[in-house]
Amino acid sequence: MTMNTPISQYIIIVIISGVLNVLLAIYAYYNKSKFAGLKLFMWSTLLSAVYTFAFAFELASDSLGEILFWIKIEYLGMPFISIFSLLLIMHYVGIERFNTPKKAWGLFVIPAITLLMVLTNDFHHLFYKEVFLRPNVDTPMVEVVPGLWYYVHGSYTSGSMYVSLFILGRYWRKKKTIYRKQMITLAIGVALPMLGALSYTLGLTPMGMDPVPVIMCVTSILYVTAIFSTALLTVAPIAREHIFESMRDGVLVLNLENQIMDFNGAATQIIPALTPLAIGQKLDHIWKRGAESEAFSFDVDPTTEHEQEFKWIRGGETFYYRIRASKLLKPNGQLAGRTIVMIDVTEHTLLQNKLRHLAEIDGLTAIYNRTFFMEKSRQLLLSAHQRQQPCSFILFDIDHFKLINDRYGHSVGDFALQHVVSICQQTLPASALFGRYGGEEFAIGLPNTKLEQAGQIAENLRAAIESNPLYSSAKALTITASFGVNQARAPVVPLETLLSEADVALYRSKHNGRNCVHLHEQDSIHAIEAKKPY
Ligand code: GH3
Ligand code: MG
Ligand code: MG
Repeated sequence: MTMNTPISQYIIIVIISGVLNVLLAIYAYYNKSKFAGLKLFMWSTLLSAVYTFAFAFELASDSLGEILFWIKIEYLGMPFISIFSLLLIMHYVGIERFNTPKKAWGLFVIPAITLLMVLTNDFHHLFYKEVFLRPNVDTPMVEVVPGLWYYVHGSYTSGSMYVSLFILGRYWRKKKTIYRKQMITLAIGVALPMLGALSYTLGLTPMGMDPVPVIMCVTSILYVTAIFSTALLTVAPIAREHIFESMRDGVLVLNLENQIMDFNGAATQIIPALTPLAIGQKLDHIWKRGAESEAFSFDVDPTTEHEQEFKWIRGGETFYYRIRASKLLKPNGQLAGRTIVMIDVTEHTLLQNKLRHLAEIDGLTAIYNRTFFMEKSRQLLLSAHQRQQPCSFILFDIDHFKLINDRYGHSVGDFALQHVVSICQQTLPASALFGRYGGEEFAIGLPNTKLEQAGQIAENLRAAIESNPLYSSAKALTITASFGVNQARAPVVPLETLLSEADVALYRSKHNGRNCVHLHEQDSIHAIEAKKPY
């Protein structure tokens, strides 16, 4: 055979195709860790290489026996290629049904039988009824009469190609356009050999030659270009469904009537009433059946986007969610509904609450600390001025507290502080602000209270503290405190000034024998004769 006959040129093209397939397989082998699909790609290119090289040898064969030998080698690869392509495409779009080798084996049963049939055809002739050399041609070429299994193999192969194309078609609309070039490449990679095989079967090819190996050369070049230009098979789109399902955040899709269109697994964790039956139902309905929760207004205008945090009590546990409703637009920009994303912020919220508590509340007495008392009092003062209402402040300090510490120990001193606070809490009006101002000094803010009323409240506190002794190791400790009271006045006097004036009044109470109440710039309303109580 000389090298310039059409057949020898054809052989060269087939060999190029085989070489390209080998190179692609090597590329896939060294990159297989980047993307799981590359392993499938590696197999499909490797088998294509086996097929094409064997085909080249078949073309170059001189006798029927040689041809039959190379056909057997071809079938080591050929029946399996379309299945690997199918698996690759399934993987590419994120269908994970056959993601374990065990399940994928099932798809290889028929190709394996095909191989077996070809190898043993001499005994049953189920694959080729007859094989003979084509008469009247220069080069030996075979002509076959197909047997039963030949059709099974043909239908199975073309069936798997149809399924591949169908899957790509279905996902076409779902994928971002950046992946469309890749999808076209994959589709051509399946469709071209399919068309080639079809025209071969219909006898439309020149000299009745099988065009598939040559077509594989074209598709191989296409794959190489796509790998380098669009990073085909290395940057695969993870299927949206997969993302949707594996998200930790709950997602709901609603239409304009607030009916549930879709939801993911995480959403069912949050709202157990979300069963498949919930599809098509109004969200409010499902929501109400869900659990005892704070009112969440989903009834709001579906055209608005909003975000809110809400609390949900489920099985005695409290959960916090940040809920974000966003518009869902059709590709033409028309409003289609809303997506609702529910993010579990329980841990974050609890931590935040704890930090806020630590920043605002005194650790020993569990009332406001000084900083937070000042902040709340400033607001109180401001709103009192705005509403032109009176507002008063009391400062008090426990008498001879050092003596308690010295005599009974620091822990009894601590206990005495808690004791005094609890007595005050029982006596004070609910609207009062109560804070620990210093060591054993406390401050009270009283909204809508005039100086004399505040003086009376202070007097009640004083009497209550005095008449409720602390029982410590069976000994009653009478505790007393000294009070200073002041009222806010216009024009605005800063809080610090009001409190330091109250402190002056308190100092006068101390000076006048303790256990008494003094009002700012007035005489004591109760100047009880001082007695050392401890
Ligand atoms: P006076 O009647 O003049 O107020 O006398 P006093 O002893 O109460 O006055 P002073 O302000 O000198 O003493 C307050 C003491 O309170 C000093 C400090 O050791 C104690 N103290 C401050 N904070 C705490 C606390 O958290 N626990 C305990 N056990 N003692 C505290
Ligand atoms: Mg004191
Ligand atoms: Mg003090």
